[in-house]
Amino acid sequence: MSTAPPAASDPWTIRRLLDWTRGHFEKQDVDAPRLTAELLLGSILKLARVQLYMDLERPLSKDELASYKALIQRRLAGEPTQYLLGQKEFYGRPFAVDSRVLIPRSETELLVEAVLRALPKDQPARVLDLCTGSGCIAISIAAEREQASVWASDVSADALAVAKANAEALGVDSRVTFFQGDLFAPIPPGATFDVIVSNPPYIATGELAGLQREVQKEPKLALDGGADGLVLLGKIVEQATARLKPGGLLALELGDDQGAAVQTQLTRSAYLDVRIEKDLARLDRLAFGRAPTKG
Ligand code: GLN
Repeated sequence: MSTAPPAASDPWTIRRLLDWTRGHFEKQDVDAPRLTAELLLGSILKLARVQLYMDLERPLSKDELASYKALIQRRLAGEPTQYLLGQKEFYGRPFAVDSRVLIPRSETELLVEAVLRALPKDQPARVLDLCTGSGCIAISIAAEREQASVWASDVSADALAVAKANAEALGVDSRVTFFQGDLFAPIPPGATFDVIVSNPPYIATGELAGLQREVQKEPKLALDGGADGLVLLGKIVEQATARLKPGGLLALELGDDQGAAVQTQLTRSAYLDVRIEKDLARLDRLAFGRAPTKG
């Protein structure tokens, strides 16, 4: 094995490209340099990461090299890797994502898990997901609970286009119904639910400009929770009481500094069994309450 540096005329093989990109990403402070290089190169060559390593000496064609370079440029300009790949895995399923939707986060999988715990497998249930974005919450619940009928709303028509495509691709489009509009506004009057779930925008407007540049490439609408970040959470807590069946569950994701405030809101709105749960980083992340059995 030669240890000499590659000559300029040497072909760009998988090995050489991975090494070069890792080094370059490292210098430019891109997160997870090696992994990012592997994912981007894999997406151009349509190879899984492990397959790259089985074919390290494969040279790239001119076209492949040009497509790869274009992705590298976009990543260096701050575009999130998941937008470049066009995909993010969530709760074990691949979701298509692009700049129209928030990239699903692993914390949100905890929210899905909590909802699933409340939904027995062999019973029908009606579930509503507010601010559905990519549809990751609504679609995961529908996929895991075959008897569930899931409704989902989002104010962004662009986001709903992504969510609908995801529901179809993941085979649950017959059981997920999408509505465009602000929170409960598009939901037919009188419709009530066993579970209302939401990961709404919850970042304070003033904090948006200080976010990581990758996050700033995500839709502002999906992040901006108003002056104190609590505007949408507050509306959901207030309005969900009229939309939950007696004993129905409200399950919310929130910011790590919002646990106390949301707990107070839930208690004030007379929810029962109010509790705040932490994520794997031990930060407040989820809130739950049940609708009173007699309203
Ligand atoms: N429900 C989607 C998610 O959890 C979108 C959330 C949002 O846009 N705020 O990823």
